[in-house]
Amino acid sequence: MSEPSVFSRIIAREIPALIVRETDRLIAFKDIAPKAPVHFLIVPKTEQYANITELAAGDPGLLAEIVAVAQELADEYSNGQYRLLFNTGPEAGQTVFHVHAHLLGGGLTESTIGF
Ligand code: AMP
Repeated sequence: MSEPSVFSRIIAREIPALIVRETDRLIAFKDIAPKAPVHFLIVPKTEQYANITELAAGDPGLLAEIVAVAQELADEYSNGQYRLLFNTGPEAGQTVFHVHAHLLGGGLTESTIGF
């Protein structure tokens, strides 16, 4: 069996993170290298899905839960407005192959996220 992902190790509290939300099936925490004033990762507790395509096919309800949590966190930290990003594949910048959404907000500008 492969090693647990860095996110599974955060879920297991083996490595620290600034956790902002936890439900039965999801966790959300601050990205260690934030690209915007608000930059959280929203991560299913299962690592069975490597990316959003697999998640949408395998458990669309869980994908909808990510969106619902994104809105809740944006309401709390980013006046309700946000950008939700799923890097899919190494050439698109994905480095952790345990599906996760980047929630970006808090005053986005071209210089914080490129466009
Ligand atoms: P991606 O490049 O889309 O796979 O996103 C992976 C994200 O995980 C990057 O934005 C990293 O900064 C973030 N990251 C990696 N390790 C940690 C960690 N220990 N705690 C919080 N965020 C992390």
